[in-house]
Amino acid sequence: MSVSSTVLKGADARPESAIDGLAFRARRLDLKHSSDDALEILRVAIKEEFAGRIALVSSFGAESAALLHLAAQIDRTVPVIFLDTGKHFAQTLSYRRKMAERLGLTDVRDIQPHAAVLKEHDASGDLWKNDADTCCALRKVEPLAPALSEFDAWITGRKQFHGAGRLNLPAFEASSTHIKVNPLIRWAKADIEAYFADHDLPAHPLTEQGYPSIGCWPCTHPAAGDDVRAGRWRGAAKTECGIHGRIA
Ligand code: SF4
Repeated sequence: MSVSSTVLKGADARPESAIDGLAFRARRLDLKHSSDDALEILRVAIKEEFAGRIALVSSFGAESAALLHLAAQIDRTVPVIFLDTGKHFAQTLSYRRKMAERLGLTDVRDIQPHAAVLKEHDASGDLWKNDADTCCALRKVEPLAPALSEFDAWITGRKQFHGAGRLNLPAFEASSTHIKVNPLIRWAKADIEAYFADHDLPAHPLTEQGYPSIGCWPCTHPAAGDDVRAGRWRGAAKTECGIHGRIA
């Protein structure tokens, strides 16, 4: 059995009635709040619907500071999960520390891959070269599942303008295990830029070097044009890391 199929086994074990319940709740919330602005969506999610049972998952990448700043206005103690894959740029790790301090976030959790899993499946550290899907599974998808187990919902920074499977995202959506809250779905690139300027947010250091989207260093390259994710897994069919698949 592959690492990814092992990871996904738990999600499949949930009864269909529970999954239907999540879908119904997400649909109800989306109908009620999809026209609210991002701050109100976050307030409803953090303070009302999922109080004490919600986390924000952040890559501390190029656009992340906007969502983190919005969330900090609602509650600086909201748990923030950072998947510390072991393959991040040094600039991202520095930016993660700087932004947490600047925004006063008190519960940023650095979630790392299991050492034993890495030793067994990626001892040389270069699995990304020939099996990026499994590399993402063991460095991102598998560590995220237990990190989210104490929560009913999580907040993402996904936006429709990023394209591909994000084009029709709702503000509230259900996975097989959680409700996902997407406060920025309708934001355009210009909205992000305006928010950074209005709130004097520091840019990720790599943006000025031409990186519009920033993940692990082996799989992230500078890119130009409208497709902000064009530099991720460049030259491969892969476009997503998998954390928005069936597991969560
Ligand atoms: S983005 Fe690349 S290095 Fe990071 S976990 Fe995925 S395949 Fe591995």
